[in-house]
Amino acid sequence: MEETSGEDGGDVITRVAGCKFGGWPTWHLTEPWEFRCRECDTPMRLLFTVASDHTTRITVGRWGDLRVFSCPRDIRHGYELDVH
Ligand SMILES: [Zn+2]
Repeated sequence: MEETSGEDGGDVITRVAGCKFGGWPTWHLTEPWEFRCRECDTPMRLLFTVASDHTTRITVGRWGDLRVFSCPRDIRHGYELDVH
């Protein structure tokens, strides 16, 4: 979270109008770390990614990605947001 190395960090995202639904977090390969549900401690699932994109005029943080995670067991357990 505190790491601010570089602009795009070499992330490769399949971008469709700046959004990617499902799939794996791009940092999954480099940072073995995951959100866990605050309610039931289940590893949370990546719901979708919103990438900074000129086309959609979306800017996330310092030209990063916003990732939304949800609990796979019960969506009412809430969401976790990560700006990368
Ligand atoms: Zn849960």
